[in-house]
Amino acid sequence: AKEKGRNHYEFFTEEMAVVAESRAELESELRLALEKGQFQLFYQPKRVMDSGRITGMEALLRWQHPTKGLISPDRFIPVAEETGLILPIGEWVLQTACAQTKSWQSMGMEHLRVAINVSARQLQEPNILDRVSRILQETGLAPDRLELEITESLLMRDVNHSIKVLHGFKSLGISIAVDDFGTGYSSLSYLKRLPIDVLKIDQSFVRDISSDPEDRAIIQAIISLAHALNLVAVAEGVETEEQEAFLLREDCQVMQGYLLGRPVPAEQFEALIAARAAG
Ligand code: C2E
Ligand code: CA
Ligand code: CA
Ligand code: CA
Repeated sequence: AKEKGRNHYEFFTEEMAVVAESRAELESELRLALEKGQFQLFYQPKRVMDSGRITGMEALLRWQHPTKGLISPDRFIPVAEETGLILPIGEWVLQTACAQTKSWQSMGMEHLRVAINVSARQLQEPNILDRVSRILQETGLAPDRLELEITESLLMRDVNHSIKVLHGFKSLGISIAVDDFGTGYSSLSYLKRLPIDVLKIDQSFVRDISSDPEDRAIIQAIISLAHALNLVAVAEGVETEEQEAFLLREDCQVMQGYLLGRPVPAEQFEALIAARAAG
């Protein structure tokens, strides 16, 4: 048994070494990616139901790796979080998305509002408000054209801190969306105290609209809650007309998903908007 135990131990250290090595590798590759400009933002349209207009987009991070190709954020954001690299990366995202939106506005798309994902580390950053406000000043983007998406579970991790930071964003004129809503065990009394504008219904509920009555009930409850609290309800991950029809019937105000458009590079997003404006 003793020997077995030792083997067991060795097995684990080996495993851990492999993990650590690839993490360290990933970390140095992420640093390099930042220096060499390998990050790219894709933009996914959001449509307001009553007008059918595209009123905004979510900026989604991609990594153009020189040999591995396009890498999705789920694969590197966790390590970026752990290592703190998410701070310079997040800064780049804010800067790039705000500058891009400002440039689209000067081309006549004044109504567009950009939504940007904010991570845990960024929210904890003591001077986050100064950083965001400086980026708005530098890019010339009006604060009411910026929406920050923060996951429900992150907001609930340290509610008092969240309330403080969110009030800061609000006083700058920035909108706040609660991302992945319905998955993070919000206490409803906290929800009332958080200065938020949007509830984004998590896509896991949207996915099974046609087959799962419980998911439908949860969506209905979230939309009612949003209306009662005077918040905008946004559905993400809308892929089918059936899902859209249900959400429309339930008075969900904004839709986002592959049905309307996948996340695409800036040039393609621009073409999409132009085509819709013309047609
Ligand atoms: P999220 O914020 O919940 O973003 C929505 C995800 O769903 C995106 O995945 C988007 O491409 C995908 N999606 C949109 N419509 C559909 C649909 O109709 N069907 C399906 N199946 N999926 C859809 P993506 O781009 O891979 O991003 C994954 C996550 O990575 C995001 O989840 C967000 O948490 C994080 N992320 C992305 N960009 C950033 C960033 O700039 N900063 C930070 N901190 N996190 C980011
Ligand atoms: Ca999001
Ligand atoms: Ca989400
Ligand atoms: Ca998510």
